[in-house]
Amino acid sequence: MKLLVTGGAGYIGSVVAAQLCEAGHDVVVLDDLSTGHADAVPPAARFVRAPITEAGDTLAEGGFHGVLHFAARSLVGESVEHPDLYWANNLGGTLALLDAMRTHRVPRIVFSSTAATYGEPDTTPIEENAPTRPTNPYGASKLAVDTALTAFAGMYGLAAVSLRYFNVAGAYTAADHRVYRERHTVETHLIPRVLAVALGLDDSVSVFGDDYPTPDGTCIRDYIHVADLAQAHLLALPACAEGTHTIYNLGNGTGFSVRQVLSACRDVTGHPIPAITRPRRPGDPAVLVASSARIQHELSWKPAHPSLHAIITDAWQALRP
Ligand code: UDP
Repeated sequence: MKLLVTGGAGYIGSVVAAQLCEAGHDVVVLDDLSTGHADAVPPAARFVRAPITEAGDTLAEGGFHGVLHFAARSLVGESVEHPDLYWANNLGGTLALLDAMRTHRVPRIVFSSTAATYGEPDTTPIEENAPTRPTNPYGASKLAVDTALTAFAGMYGLAAVSLRYFNVAGAYTAADHRVYRERHTVETHLIPRVLAVALGLDDSVSVFGDDYPTPDGTCIRDYIHVADLAQAHLLALPACAEGTHTIYNLGNGTGFSVRQVLSACRDVTGHPIPAITRPRRPGDPAVLVASSARIQHELSWKPAHPSLHAIITDAWQALRP
């Protein structure tokens, strides 16, 4: 298939672009490099540096079978401080993309959604029919796109799949040995922040809250390997059916606390990784664990690297020369 990957110079988008190239697809990456890196674009892909609002210029060349849409802002804290950026980029940018897809008759989209659309869950693991009550503008903007996709599928015949990611980590080594890894300028995620301490780039890790109603008092999350997450996109692409919008959760179905992650990182790196308990981070739910039963059942998706140890090991090895 000829495919446009928006945000394909970012962490998850570049891994998906690499796997699509390896599977023989004709890939065009569109990215404005606001947070991505040009050298993360796989060599087999064509790179267009442009904002999402200009995706139509690329789609106009014709022949595209689908779009995989990653280009978005994704920092929860920033979304609280600057909601305008999130509504403009994540919703406004996507509406412009969907408009261009209709104009140029691109039939399908796989959209990068998030567990943040659910907010604080009533029950765990979270299934796709759980209530959606996002607690920040990031989650709300992604949920708004999901709502738009349902309407566009029903009214315009779009074939759409949304993948709701839980906590993505790890790195991907492609067949040509290129390594695709997380490298955000502003890093807020737990595993890369912990590994930065093990690398000597930071003195200690902050543990945001140890008074949650969990066995060790720290928040529990469901960590998924980026290579497994990317595979789900390759499965979703041919499964997109005209006039339907399907939502799938993507996680491993097992939760680990912040302290368990720290302990696994100490095992993997051999570094003591000092940790300091700090106040809770606003908007953090105590427990977020996915039920991925739907995608396992309907698309036969099965994580190849479900162990937290393996996820951290891959992230760690990608950081070391
Ligand atoms: N966390 C932490 N210290 C950090 C970064 C994150 O204690 O330096 C906690 C955070 O409060 C949450 C969990 O680790 O409970 C996972 O956070 P992350 O930002 O990685 O992902 P999120 O679940 O917010 O998408």
